[in-house]
Amino acid sequence: MSIERIQKVINNKELNKENLSFLIGLEGEERDFYLKAVGENYVKTLGKKVFFRGLVEFSNYCTKDCYYCGIRKSNSHSERYDIDDKAIIDAAIFAHEHKYGSLVLQSGERSDKAFTERITSLLKKIKEVTKGELGITISLGEQSEETYQEWFDAGAHRYLLRIESSNRNLYYKIHPEDKKHNFEARVNCLHSLQKIGYQTGTGVMIGLPFQTYDDLADDLLFFKELNVDMVGMGPFIEHTETPLYKYKDDLWPIQRRFEVALNMIATLRLLMPDINIAAATALQAIDPMGREKALRYGANVIMPNITPTANRKDYTLYENKPCTDEGADDCSNCLSIRVEMAGREIGYSEWGDSKHFFKRTGKE
Ligand code: SAM
Ligand code: SF4
Repeated sequence: MSIERIQKVINNKELNKENLSFLIGLEGEERDFYLKAVGENYVKTLGKKVFFRGLVEFSNYCTKDCYYCGIRKSNSHSERYDIDDKAIIDAAIFAHEHKYGSLVLQSGERSDKAFTERITSLLKKIKEVTKGELGITISLGEQSEETYQEWFDAGAHRYLLRIESSNRNLYYKIHPEDKKHNFEARVNCLHSLQKIGYQTGTGVMIGLPFQTYDDLADDLLFFKELNVDMVGMGPFIEHTETPLYKYKDDLWPIQRRFEVALNMIATLRLLMPDINIAAATALQAIDPMGREKALRYGANVIMPNITPTANRKDYTLYENKPCTDEGADDCSNCLSIRVEMAGREIGYSEWGDSKHFFKRTGKE
């Protein structure tokens, strides 16, 4: 019965909230059937290519206090670091030389002038040393429209800002409700990014306390409504030094969070066939082949961690973060084998821009 329903939903593209919620909650053999069907279908339209973005988590200083995050301002046990400009530029050169195509710069959130100006000059420098050949995505939280514009002009062309949950009530269960953590302000940032001309990405965590399949269905509809170009979403993983840790016994088991995350990726691929979907690192913290499974069922972007090894262990958003003791070389070698095992091809030296972006904006 359920198999027939799955087939009908896929064939007729009946992707209303009720059906999305049903697909997101699938288990057992029906789930296996569903994931396989999406995996086989989507490569026919989007192709087999997977794009690499070298991820540099260059600083864990943060001015915010999100209840789920291990590097939140109030976690006094977090060993803080800020990688110097030379090491960041070296990482960019590494990505360029290893034909990664793109770089992602990510950090805790700061909006002081010293920080925003530093990013502007780093972006210009990276563009210069890689002869404009390396694509640059940034993920530096909420900023003013002027700052977003300045960074865009300096060479960043994609921006990732997860909404974390599109349910406003849930948003305030996982963030303080104050000026620094404001749901509408975060949504407005996404609009600003689109207006400026960034390929705009958002995403959510999956398996948060209080979250339901219906909430997750609404998240997917939020992405569609906002008409985003990219999505990165992964399982929520609790961290002992955070306020949400007190709900650890009420969460879905970790394996179920992983399963639902893959269901979300596959279902988003049905809903938005031409966007970029990243295989989140958090998937690998649960299952050593987590990201490769995501590639099979809908993801087409993977972000090898190229943060200098000495600092990796301190960017602990959650516990058991993978690859914290490997050098970037180990990571790129193991990844290329893994991508091939997932039946995908690597788009070496390609920016791998979102096809959806070009359709949405009419640019080519
Ligand atoms: N500070 C920026 C921001 O918040 O947009 C960028 C860096 S932040 C660490 C990147 C993402 O990490 C967040 O959007 C959040 O979804 C994810 N994250 C934080 N804590 C997490 C946790 N405990 N489990 C899973 N993902 C987490
Ligand atoms: Fe800071 Fe981002 Fe973590 Fe929130 S999720 S505490 S903004 S690093």
